[in-house]
Amino acid sequence: MQKNIETYQLLEKEIQTCTKCRLSSFRTNALAGTGSIFKKIVIIGEAPGKEEDLKQKAFIGVAGKILDEMLNEANLRREDVYITNIVKCRPPKNRDPQPDEIKTCQSYLIRQLKLIKPKIILSLGRIAGNSLFSLIKKPFSTISKMHGNITAFTSSYGPVKIICMYHPAMGLYGENNKKILIDDMKKHKQLLQNFISS
Ligand code: URA
Repeated sequence: MQKNIETYQLLEKEIQTCTKCRLSSFRTNALAGTGSIFKKIVIIGEAPGKEEDLKQKAFIGVAGKILDEMLNEANLRREDVYITNIVKCRPPKNRDPQPDEIKTCQSYLIRQLKLIKPKIILSLGRIAGNSLFSLIKKPFSTISKMHGNITAFTSSYGPVKIICMYHPAMGLYGENNKKILIDDMKKHKQLLQNFISS
């Protein structure tokens, strides 16, 4: 356990000082992730936004408020999950991370997942879904087809379920959108509850 914490802290330092791609020149802070590494549920977003870049905490801006509502729906607290992103640095003006940036950052995500060994991955949005599916070499269609679905795969440490969701920021654009996010969480409440660890 202690060894895992030390390994994670080293990885976190590596991420925070990374200059492997152009995003490092725009960031204030790189954000490895937020939460305990001893959780069975990992949430993966796209990239840090303005607030996250400044304060080095995941999902603390407006999209984070929607994420909290989603978690609440499944009776989850922030303390029950570990949250990270596909890329660890904020893209300028919150543009989509580019394929080469995603590829460069990928090894950090893989190392995080190998260390944390989540049983459930909640992937948020098209970019996270696409990137994760390319990692596990499974086809990803559109987020409108994949959202709310579970995809099971066998990782190097055992079975994992990916639950695809729309990105919480979608909930900022109308109550109907928010309802889709909430309904997808509701649908998996029981499964998620089974993976809350102390
Ligand atoms: N959006 C994301 O995808 N990730 C964050 O951490 C914040 C906003």
